[in-house]
Amino acid sequence: MIKKIIIAGGGTAGWMAAAAFSRLFNHSSVHITLIESDAIGTVGVGEATIPHLRYFNDKLGINEHDFMRATNATFKLGIDFINWGKIGERYIHPFGEFGFPTPHTSFLKYWARADKLGLNLPTDEFSIATHMARKGKFAYPSKNEQSLTSTFSYAFHIDANRYAQYLRTLCENNFSNFNRIEGKINNITQNTTTGNIEALHLEDGTRIEGDFFIDCSGFRSLLVGETLGAKTIDLSKHLPCDRAVAAPTDETYPNTPYSQATAHSAGWQWRIPLKHRTGNGCVYASQFMSDDEALNLFHKNLSGKTLATPQVIKFKASHKNLSWSHNCAAVGLSSGFIEPLESTGIHLIQTAIIKLIELLPSHADYTHERIEFNRQMADEYEKIRDFIILHYRISERDDSEFWRYIKNMELPDSLKNRLALLEETGIVDTYQHGLFLESSWAYVFLGQGGQIKSNSTQTHHLSDRRARAAITKIQR
Ligand code: FAD
Repeated sequence: MIKKIIIAGGGTAGWMAAAAFSRLFNHSSVHITLIESDAIGTVGVGEATIPHLRYFNDKLGINEHDFMRATNATFKLGIDFINWGKIGERYIHPFGEFGFPTPHTSFLKYWARADKLGLNLPTDEFSIATHMARKGKFAYPSKNEQSLTSTFSYAFHIDANRYAQYLRTLCENNFSNFNRIEGKINNITQNTTTGNIEALHLEDGTRIEGDFFIDCSGFRSLLVGETLGAKTIDLSKHLPCDRAVAAPTDETYPNTPYSQATAHSAGWQWRIPLKHRTGNGCVYASQFMSDDEALNLFHKNLSGKTLATPQVIKFKASHKNLSWSHNCAAVGLSSGFIEPLESTGIHLIQTAIIKLIELLPSHADYTHERIEFNRQMADEYEKIRDFIILHYRISERDDSEFWRYIKNMELPDSLKNRLALLEETGIVDTYQHGLFLESSWAYVFLGQGGQIKSNSTQTHHLSDRRARAAITKIQR
């Protein structure tokens, strides 16, 4: 039986894991310890979220208003993509459905049929979230599933450091089975027979033993990577962006319930409006842009005064081949990171925690649980990777070496297949597990100028006249 769970690291990943496991095992004999080092610090970016975070907070019993106040949050209805398909064009990828459920097949196939009939309908017309975002408004979705206003969702822009602090207070005030230790881990002992981790040693000589370890140590991947030897699967051939210059500015955008992602000649720049400030970051591929060029571009695209010196953050699109190895699972950056586009970092933390909770064994041999966890995490990474590559690939841009590289690069087989299906008749591979579903693929693909070649057989029962009428009715 697992009795002592040790979490190494206190960034967003560490504190989300601490809150989830402490609540799960509250009033049981399982004890949770989190070790973090203020001297090392956290990555400190990660301000845009996706709607799933609401379910995570719900499970922790967190009140949404309380959470929003504590994290200086604003509402997020989607992302405004600027200059992606072509310079000068923009579209919103909103949270929620594309259109409205249709009787025979998905709305996307109706839309494609209407497109062939020359109706020339922008995708923006078919999302309540996009309409609200463009008007600078927000309302909660309706709970009535028959209502059009139930077809969208929402997330938040948050101050991630404040979220970690909020979860720390929650853990320290509510869970008697939890404790936090400040200190730097400088040595790790493994069992000489099994290879399992036995204890973490701090700089001051403290030895902390555990049965199960959660590696939330960030990019260094101290336990799963450095100690247990999990290999890094490099995704940078398809996702060359590997750096970001980031700094907050003092201006606010009170009527902007969405993030902005503006493409540039070697990557893109984010703008995330919080209640008290704006988060900004210029993401770029160092192969195609120097740090100095990125810094200049970053400043050129800013309005407002910077509140901190811009920092260059290095990363590599990658994930571990084994997120769970021996008696240790990696959560957060220690497991992997695709890139900041579409804000999947915090979601991947949440996904790993939920899967761990489902699979955490009550017996000593957990080979099958570990294999299943690793399979599911690898699957998550693959699907997110494909969706992120889509943003770069469905583009007419060829105005720089970066965009020409993207245009000519060989796609991963899984994406080749998904894209061929989508381009052929508007089929989006639907999967039981995974993050971005049909509407997301439709918004990005069509928003950036993707074309569906032929009508789906599932719309053949409609005459042209009836197809046109059905679509315009939904549009109205
Ligand atoms: P970290 O924040 O690095 O925390 C690591 C922890 O481990 C720290 O507490 C550190 O002190 C501790 N530690 C490390 N070594 C030791 C040691 N030897 N001893 C003791 N403690 C140690 N995600 C989103 O969802 N939305 C976004 O908009 C977003 N934007 C991003 C932009 C960029 C440029 C990057 C790089 C990431 C972004 N992310 C985003 C991802 C997000 O930042 C991370 O998923 C999130 O911050 C979690 O980080 P972490 O807790 O895994 O690691």
